[in-house]
Amino acid sequence: MEKDAFELAKEHFYRYAEPLQLPRRYPKCDILERLTTPDCSIQNRLTFQRDDGSLQVCQAYRVQFNDDRGPYKGGIRFHPAVGQAETKALAFWMYLKTAVVNIPFGGAKGGVSVDYPSLSLQEKERLTKRYAMVMLDVIGPEKDIPAPDVNTGEREMGWILDEWRMIHGKYQRGVVTGKPMSMGGSQGRREATGRGVVYTITEAAKDAKLKLSGASAAVQGFGNVGATAARLLHELGVRVTAVSDVTGAIRQPKGLNIPEVLAHVQAGHALAEYPEAEAFERDELIVEPVDVLVLAALENAVTVENAPHIKARLIAEGANGPVHPAAVDILNLREALVIPDILCNAGGATVSYFEWVQNRQEFYWTLERVNEELRRVMLDAYRQVADLAAAHDVTLRDAAYRIAIERVAEAAVRRGVQ
Ligand code: NAD
Repeated sequence: MEKDAFELAKEHFYRYAEPLQLPRRYPKCDILERLTTPDCSIQNRLTFQRDDGSLQVCQAYRVQFNDDRGPYKGGIRFHPAVGQAETKALAFWMYLKTAVVNIPFGGAKGGVSVDYPSLSLQEKERLTKRYAMVMLDVIGPEKDIPAPDVNTGEREMGWILDEWRMIHGKYQRGVVTGKPMSMGGSQGRREATGRGVVYTITEAAKDAKLKLSGASAAVQGFGNVGATAARLLHELGVRVTAVSDVTGAIRQPKGLNIPEVLAHVQAGHALAEYPEAEAFERDELIVEPVDVLVLAALENAVTVENAPHIKARLIAEGANGPVHPAAVDILNLREALVIPDILCNAGGATVSYFEWVQNRQEFYWTLERVNEELRRVMLDAYRQVADLAAAHDVTLRDAAYRIAIERVAEAAVRRGVQ
């Protein structure tokens, strides 16, 4: 039987943890079991009302994986593929991600298995508030702080904050991050993940001796992360020659006019109908002949089948888990420089942290300050990872995992006996 997402994630963890010799360094702590077992894994029935008065039942999840370094933190995903194993894997990566960029949070993830885009606006609000109700005592500003993920954004965070506030009877903005500015959101949060992806690409390109101005790029996924990354790369003078979303892909070897493509999609048109480009098969984007490949859709986009045909020299994992674990070694053999997800897409978690700090102080930063602090955190983290990778002649993924695991293990052991 095929292993599920969480089993695969654990297998990789063991592989990257092995050189750290944790059981020898921390004897009698059962440390590896401790770091690979979620603290709490919730699955609830969630019932919400459709517009025609009927009720729909779906499953709601929240996995709180580890809070050794600070309160649980992690996004909420509304997608039909959401399930227990996937949510555990995402929560697992989340605590490693907060550790790589060294922000004082742990890791969690949540979601509902539902075809969210097909719901009406009113149904979306009822479903989201129901989720907040079901998870009412699980989340909180010093406990577990949700944020947006696939198919959720500012609007959903605003609804969750409202529900939490109505029931708890107090306005604590830090209960969610990624909320609207009018409710205490941070400048720059919406773009933070894509911006962080591009900061890491800029640094990695120097290591790969790739001049970004004039280089070519393909971007898989044209949502929050992908569209922001595509736009910022375009602004840096990178020729973004291909982009895709769930509906299709387009290419233009001269380079797409990304602001125009964005306006086209935002006006409600299908990506593939953009007139100044050639439409092509969505899943072929992965093997486009480009210098930089940004993966910003969903898990397992790169497989053992397509990995040998990837031409990009630099691969940025904007999505979580976009390379199937079985394909990781194939990419390593191809000597592509891969910026791993737990580092590459940590910009969202980082600005979520800034938002939470601002909420606690009720003192709000300028966009320039947010972006400058984000840049500092991402570049520091990238440099630490790249230096460790160079010193031990390992991949950026190995190095990022080692740094994260080391930090969490240290905090876990320092807590003493529980
Ligand atoms: P989103 O819903 O805004 O966008 C997802 C995009 O992927 C959409 O354009 C969708 O059409 C496209 N897509 C889906 N399946 C596809 C396929 N098979 N081929 C091509 N495109 C496809 O979601 P997002 O927030 O941009 O998240 C994207 C990824 O980044 C997810 O893995 C998410 O977990 C991760 N991530 C997001 C954030 C954040 O702050 N939003 C932070 C860290 C990681």
